[in-house]
Amino acid sequence: MSGFFSRYTELGDIYLVPQQPKQFEQAQLILTNAELLTELGMDIDKQQLRGYLAGVSKIENIEPVAMAYCGHQFGHFNPQLGDGRAHLIASFVTAQGDAYDMHLKGSGATVFSRGGDGLCALGPAIREYIMSHAMHALGVPTTRCLAVLSTNQLVMRQEQEPGAVVCRIARSHIRVGTFQLMAMKKDVDAMKTLVELCIADQFNDISSSGEQRIFDFFEQVCLRQCALVLEWMQVGFIHGVMNTDNTLINGETIDYGPCAMMESFSFDAVFSSIDRQGRYAFGQQPNIASWNCGRLAESLMLLMSDKDAALERFSAILSQFAEEFNKGYQQMWSNKLGLLSWQESDQTLLSELLSLMQQNKLDYTNTFAALTNSLQPTPLPGYAIPEALADWVGKWRKRVGESNLPAAHSIMQSANPAIIPRNGMVEHFISEFNLAKHSDEFTQWLNALKTPYVYQAYPAQWLATMTNEQAYQTFCGT
Ligand code: AMP
Ligand code: MG
Repeated sequence: MSGFFSRYTELGDIYLVPQQPKQFEQAQLILTNAELLTELGMDIDKQQLRGYLAGVSKIENIEPVAMAYCGHQFGHFNPQLGDGRAHLIASFVTAQGDAYDMHLKGSGATVFSRGGDGLCALGPAIREYIMSHAMHALGVPTTRCLAVLSTNQLVMRQEQEPGAVVCRIARSHIRVGTFQLMAMKKDVDAMKTLVELCIADQFNDISSSGEQRIFDFFEQVCLRQCALVLEWMQVGFIHGVMNTDNTLINGETIDYGPCAMMESFSFDAVFSSIDRQGRYAFGQQPNIASWNCGRLAESLMLLMSDKDAALERFSAILSQFAEEFNKGYQQMWSNKLGLLSWQESDQTLLSELLSLMQQNKLDYTNTFAALTNSLQPTPLPGYAIPEALADWVGKWRKRVGESNLPAAHSIMQSANPAIIPRNGMVEHFISEFNLAKHSDEFTQWLNALKTPYVYQAYPAQWLATMTNEQAYQTFCGT
């Protein structure tokens, strides 16, 4: 039977602190993901949803909580994080038995606020809604957005901005930072409970016992992180703040704060205003995901009797991350180029393309979409191959081989989206929402983002590279 329930209660009140969301009496729902409601089989109407998000009504018998966690932020350990502006108002189990958390962000201060106001501005809330919607449709594992509520109150940021509450749905909110907290407290019992919670919810094919069970769990988490980063790179996503508190054990994307889509191709692409060193640049993401897994291993050491032997085992598993990533990475490029198998000389073909793209500041999505479209029996207008690639395209087509064109096209179409949530479009619609405007174009665009691998004639501005990309910056939204 589907329904709401209280989750993680085994962890106890130090890790899960009962906290009431702030009440916003004048609030209005401005975005609702009706499809997600249906998909989950959550039998609530908009009025009830508004009540939960606005903190004016409670889900029966469920105590909202704020979760504690630590985290490495930009490489530095912060022992005191936690839901500073968020509440887990309930978890939900679907008729199929899958559990999800229903989490509010911007729902007021908690014991973890550390002087912050506990609020969220409307802009970042809209960004989270759009990005998670698009990423899900692109096939990337992600937390999702059920709704955005306008609080009809102002929040103070650089200047005053309209406030909002986001309702996020995740398979689980257990983070690498949650494990780091148990390790910091040397709480062996809580750590064991946490591992078992994660295995039962997310990794229930692990059947080993004892310390092997911990290694198996760690390996599975590493594989999910590796798969996630590959998905990000395939579509040009830059997360922007891959701190360990923003790394979910279940391998879903979380925290669409300073994220962006890479438009002009560069491994060094970075847009987050606070990432001055490029720690979380596009091409750094696999290294950081692996580094974050290393922090999980460090935390799990708490459960190991022979530390030296365990260190060796964890290191060996972690070194598989690089191997797995390299395998997946080659497959990713192979798919993006429509190659049916990878030959040694393909590395040169790829490197040449990427150099040309970087030198000529070519748009990542549009370039691969143009190559994909060029293999259609009747290519569509509007997906022009850049002039700078003319010579390279000759070599590439020869490599693909005339007789393989239909097969290559079909592989490429599922690896190369035609439409993504471009930074300029996201900003444009955020500005509209800030002015309380809800245009038809927004609805049409969101709709188009639902089927990003469909090649058709889209309005030119939906596919246009941002003109001032060099100056584009994204913010944490705090
Ligand atoms: P984030 O950058 O969103 O991952 O947030 C990092 C940490 O800061 C988390 O513990 C958040 O709960 C906390 N935080 C972010 N913004 C606020 C805010 N406006 N008020 C209180 N805590 C916040
Ligand atoms: Mg966070």
